Amino acid sequence: MGENISRPQDLTDTQLDFYIRVARSLSKRETCQDLLVPEKSGRAFHVYQDQVLRITCSHGPQVCDFNAFSATDSSEHFWSGRTRTLQGSHMKIGRQLWSTEPSMRPMMTMIADTVKKRQLPNNATTHDLIYSRCSERAWQLRTGRKGMPNCNTNIKNALRDIGFSDEYVHDAFNVFMTTGYDTDHRLFHVPSEAQKGDYIELYAEIDLVCAVSCCPGTSSGSEHYPITVQVFSQSMRPPWRTISTDTKVI
Ligand SMILES: [Zn+2]
Repeated sequence: MGENISRPQDLTDTQLDFYIRVARSLSKRETCQDLLVPEKSGRAFHVYQDQVLRITCSHGPQVCDFNAFSATDSSEHFWSGRTRTLQGSHMKIGRQLWSTEPSMRPMMTMIADTVKKRQLPNNATTHDLIYSRCSERAWQLRTGRKGMPNCNTNIKNALRDIGFSDEYVHDAFNVFMTTGYDTDHRLFHVPSEAQKGDYIELYAEIDLVCAVSCCPGTSSGSEHYPITVQVFSQSMRPPWRTISTDTKVI
């Protein structure tokens, strides 16, 4: 038997209230980064604790493979399997991306999502946690062609570009990817439900290095587009975070 933790780790009302307030306080933010990630390519960047990352389908529906690492230890990174076990097969507002052991802790919390969800066959939905990332080898097996653009290589190259280790590139949180299981329990994907202008926001629980890839595959539909990545600083802090014993409270 598996561990008895296969239920959603629901946030408390206090936590939900905090994240909703952060998501609504758009006027109190400062933009720290504003990146256009060209189609079929990747970028990496820092997102520090309490900052908000927004990923936008700025030019059209585009699946974005997303990796996250502790900024101080690349061996602690997003764990799609554990996140799926704890949170479910797809991300939505109030769900968290969890990291690998031994820390195994929330890395980011989804606080906004503008994608309008439809009723799809087999209960398919958007923001996938079940598919593995595409790679050169996976494309070679599927098409017989070598050297095709892929998310694995895009993310590795992006991490190297900012001088961060690419040793622990991992299966992604597939932002805007619309997926499900068929009646034979096989995975399927359909063109993304996302529309031009849709975005998600992730609140950083720790200091992070993040990497994204505009998936060059067919998961977005027939076209490929750039995506826009923005990082915002904001002044609100979680009321439940423990105050260090070194901190003087006046
Ligand atoms: Zn891909």
